[in-house]
Amino acid sequence: MIPARKTRQIQVGTLSIGGDAPIAVQSMAATRTQDLEATRRQIRILESAGADLIRIAVDSPADVEALALLAKETDKPLSVDLQENYRLAESVAPHVQKLRYNPGHLHHHEKTRSVQDKVAWIAKIATQHDCAIRIGCNAGSLAPEYKERFPDDHVQALVQQAADHCKLLDDVGFTNYLVSIKDSDPRLVIDANVQFAELRPDVPLHLGVTEAGMPPDGVIKTRIAFEQLVSRGLGDTIRVSLTVPFDNKGQEIEVGRGILADVEAGRFRSVPPNFFDGLNIIACPSCSRVENEKFIDLAEDVKRMTAWAAERDVTIAVMGCRVNGPGETDDADLGLWCGPTTVNLKKGTETVGTYGYDEVLGVLQTELEAIVAAGK
Ligand code: SF4
Repeated sequence: MIPARKTRQIQVGTLSIGGDAPIAVQSMAATRTQDLEATRRQIRILESAGADLIRIAVDSPADVEALALLAKETDKPLSVDLQENYRLAESVAPHVQKLRYNPGHLHHHEKTRSVQDKVAWIAKIATQHDCAIRIGCNAGSLAPEYKERFPDDHVQALVQQAADHCKLLDDVGFTNYLVSIKDSDPRLVIDANVQFAELRPDVPLHLGVTEAGMPPDGVIKTRIAFEQLVSRGLGDTIRVSLTVPFDNKGQEIEVGRGILADVEAGRFRSVPPNFFDGLNIIACPSCSRVENEKFIDLAEDVKRMTAWAAERDVTIAVMGCRVNGPGETDDADLGLWCGPTTVNLKKGTETVGTYGYDEVLGVLQTELEAIVAAGK
């Protein structure tokens, strides 16, 4: 039931992705990387669950030191997100097999250096250390230029951004790369990936629905996207993002393999009628950037506490950190993003205030009641 894929094959250490290679299933360590014990345990959990590739977040020199030690202890290929600090590539590349950069984050540092130059530099570092690259586009962090060029077509903006970055790598002769285009709405993920594959059928695709949230909804959203894409022959590696306690992170691999096995066998689950109607809670899967582990409990409390509004068309986003939290809550009716001791509450793009973990739920409740009273 899975048609042959047309992508070229790339190499991530010993792992082949694309072409006729099996679809690789990956996940990410959610712990703070410099907490060696916790991250080591997280890597073991993902290895035991059968991960083909493990992603680790690196934010500081202490994280790089920890990464260097951890890399020696696993034979799984490792990938690192460069996030806003693309210059980290130089220190992490010697320890990993793949670098992920987000085109929407390249403008934050060294504002006078062109994006073209930055991409060429990342490609040079990747070549020196035999790393693959993922061009990782997220709907919540589109580069400003594409927001301006496509103000009314978010999907087209994402697709064009991804295609332009492929060209930047092509132009410097770097071919060991793949692309991801993610969002928390599986319908956008389907549209964007289908459109991108029409433009660049040769480029391998990493599939994922970001901030899918807690099971079972997070699993259903992911399944909707993967069923539609994989059955079209699109998707060379997948990541399921679920908001679950650290010790249950292996579930992301199990769910991913389960969906692939179902598509392979032609077992498509129907999407419940009106699945997209009513209250939509999106929550990030958490990663090492979470500065307070209360985030997972908070996401669960938000779900429990807002159950009374299940029939209302309201979106609430719960994000674990200050890196992606502020931007990725912009499109929600109410957004919470977590800091070390406080939670920031937003209404659309506006900040309502900053509250302690134990007081934010009360304010959220009041804001939600106001939105519902206004007719949502
Ligand atoms: S929002 Fe922050 S904590 Fe959550 S997955 Fe993204 S980077 Fe990690």
